[in-house]
Amino acid sequence: MTNHLFDGLFADGDPQAPFAVLPDGGQWTYADALNFSARLANVLNSYGIEPGDRVAVQVPKSIEAVLLYIACVRMGAVFLPLNTAYTGSEVSYFVNDSGANLLVCNPPDRTTYADLALDHDCRLETLGIATEAGFAVGSLVDAAELVEPSFVNVDRRGSDLAAILYTSGTTGRSKGAMLSHDNLLSNSKALKQLWRFSKSDVLLHALPIFHTHGLFVAVNVTLLSGGSMIFLSGFDLDTMIEQLPRSTSLMGVPTFYTRLLNDPRFTRQLVAHMRLFVSGSAPLLAETHVEFEETTGHRVLERYGMTETNMNTSNPYNGERRAGTVGFPLPGVDVRIGDPDTGKPLAATTATEVGMIEISGPNVFSGYWNMPEKTAAEFCDDGYFITGDLGKIDADGYLHIVGRSKDLIISGGLNIYPKEVELVIDDQVGVLESAVVGVPHPDFGEAVVAVVVPSGNELDSSTLAEHIKPHLARFKQPKLIEIAAELPRNTMGKVQKNILRTRLKDSFSV
Ligand code: AMP
Repeated sequence: MTNHLFDGLFADGDPQAPFAVLPDGGQWTYADALNFSARLANVLNSYGIEPGDRVAVQVPKSIEAVLLYIACVRMGAVFLPLNTAYTGSEVSYFVNDSGANLLVCNPPDRTTYADLALDHDCRLETLGIATEAGFAVGSLVDAAELVEPSFVNVDRRGSDLAAILYTSGTTGRSKGAMLSHDNLLSNSKALKQLWRFSKSDVLLHALPIFHTHGLFVAVNVTLLSGGSMIFLSGFDLDTMIEQLPRSTSLMGVPTFYTRLLNDPRFTRQLVAHMRLFVSGSAPLLAETHVEFEETTGHRVLERYGMTETNMNTSNPYNGERRAGTVGFPLPGVDVRIGDPDTGKPLAATTATEVGMIEISGPNVFSGYWNMPEKTAAEFCDDGYFITGDLGKIDADGYLHIVGRSKDLIISGGLNIYPKEVELVIDDQVGVLESAVVGVPHPDFGEAVVAVVVPSGNELDSSTLAEHIKPHLARFKQPKLIEIAAELPRNTMGKVQKNILRTRLKDSFSV
């Protein structure tokens, strides 16, 4: 029997080697991971789950939850992780849309979700963490104790579905991105090779596991390399500072790095032994990049990916890690810039212009679950996926992300890329960071508005407006600058521009 993803991921793991270490000293070896995922696969079988069935999972972070993903891979089910912040009505949408056959929730949510599961003819089971003791609890854990720790994997080819990950749906309804065994395996192979992961790596894992970054990038790359991870329930500064000396690598979102830099315990000595710091899921400010290097002597390696495509590009392991860029295409991945108006690829000579980032490669998903029209609309005729990110490739081949196309501001008929305005604002004295959005305007259609977070106490919006004037054409200058204590961000560190747009929509009362 061959199971494309499982066979690839577990090819090198030494059964006695640690796969995961918990902050309390608990440890899971590769043999433990194999045994427990086999038990869970047997449990799913006993529930009547069949290859191709969807297993929706909204549970707290635990190794058992990671092994539920592996169990699904082994028995051919489709793993469907859900953000723990989703409410009952959101979960109901996902269960209904995916036609999930099983919903696994946190034990305290069982009563709340009982009707929802009944309505959608979906079995309901639980998996959680005992608050005090920190070990896993729930009906899945109880059932796992009663079954065999061995399992004959179901045959799965590269093109078979391994997971459905719903996009964050900040514009319109969330869509289920269908990811195959080979989408996941090919991408982890490329990353392992590029980022030089090996058996001796200890990855500090503080990301959520309902998202591609913490689940597929972090866990799959660790498994593939036969290395281990220090598995934290989330990002907590004290625990990070305590565990960094035991780690070789960290994968984080930009907020990890800004928070670490703000802590006086985060010093050069603390991380002198570290091999690699990776950042992604949201833009890392060039300023953070520089400050990180000044403090630690390490250059953060920034990469670019998304739910639908896994990882697309990365700064080099050796060679210049260029601040403000997301580097080069991964091996086997092709990145091109499409004309934002016609959709046609820009000729290589003009690719230094801003356009739509389009991707093709073994990493790219096969489409949105049950949405053939949406899928067709987001792929070019020649198979390239239209990411919705705007970018350009500089003369040295580094990809720069300029923003999301839906964030593009059209004011008085002129296109404004928010990133360009944000970079100018961020460069001013007294500014920590900024977010630029377009809001309705009676004359211009849309007006540029900037929300700016000061780095200290004193920041005056009219002085700031004067300072940025020489750097930006008139039509790009914000018509309103709002000073704010912080920018709204989601769990992956992305600035939620939709929240800003809603809050500021009546600023010029159309
Ligand atoms: P998600 O599907 O939640 O992973 O979000 C993917 C989106 O995050 C991409 O389409 C980009 O807009 C953004 N993104 C990911 N990595 C980066 C990065 N390194 N710099 C800027 N934006 C990024």
